[in-house]
Amino acid sequence: MKLDGILPYTRILLEKAINSGDIAIDCTAGNGHDTSFLANRVGENGHVYSFDIQKTAIEKTTKRIREQELLNRVTLFHKSHDQLTKCIPAHHQGMIKGAIFNLGYLPGGDKEIVTTPHSTLSAIEQLIEMLDVGGIIVLVIYHGHDQGKFEKEAVVRYAEQLNQEKTHVLKYEFINQKNNPPFIVAIEKR
Ligand code: SAM
Repeated sequence: MKLDGILPYTRILLEKAINSGDIAIDCTAGNGHDTSFLANRVGENGHVYSFDIQKTAIEKTTKRIREQELLNRVTLFHKSHDQLTKCIPAHHQGMIKGAIFNLGYLPGGDKEIVTTPHSTLSAIEQLIEMLDVGGIIVLVIYHGHDQGKFEKEAVVRYAEQLNQEKTHVLKYEFINQKNNPPFIVAIEKR
């Protein structure tokens, strides 16, 4: 396939916005794959803030980035991403170049613990304020599970009504695949 799949395209979008020395946020740390990707991307002079409500996710992410010797460029918060504004130091707010949400449940974890529309939308709103111009929020939306359908609708509805003078909003989706495949909503600050 020549078209980029959802996960590769997520990274392409983040790579367009984030460079060495930048500040980035992983809003759903999970098993730490995205935190690790971002920490490599920002380099030793950049920084990543990473959030998850599950202790096990924070532990797995910590282990992954410690093994990769990236711990000194990552700050982990065992908190909901709707606490972003309270957690990110004031001198980094307004400088965020990229943020990623992988919505849904922790792979290999408790499928009952999922991201929810209320906190996801609150975090997006806070992030739009915090982004530098040209910064991007990438959401990977998994809607195969029950709660995911509501979250998908809420995020798409919210993103569609964002002011086009202030944001570019993209939806990237394979529309002929079975079983509710994930898709991307990306919000770039103008
Ligand atoms: N990006 C992760 C990775 O690279 O492994 C996968 C993330 S997983 C699909 C979704 C994660 O979101 C779960 O670990 C879950 O605990 C977390 N989560 C759910 N609600 C959250 C919230 N309000 N704030 C932060 N994390 C949340």
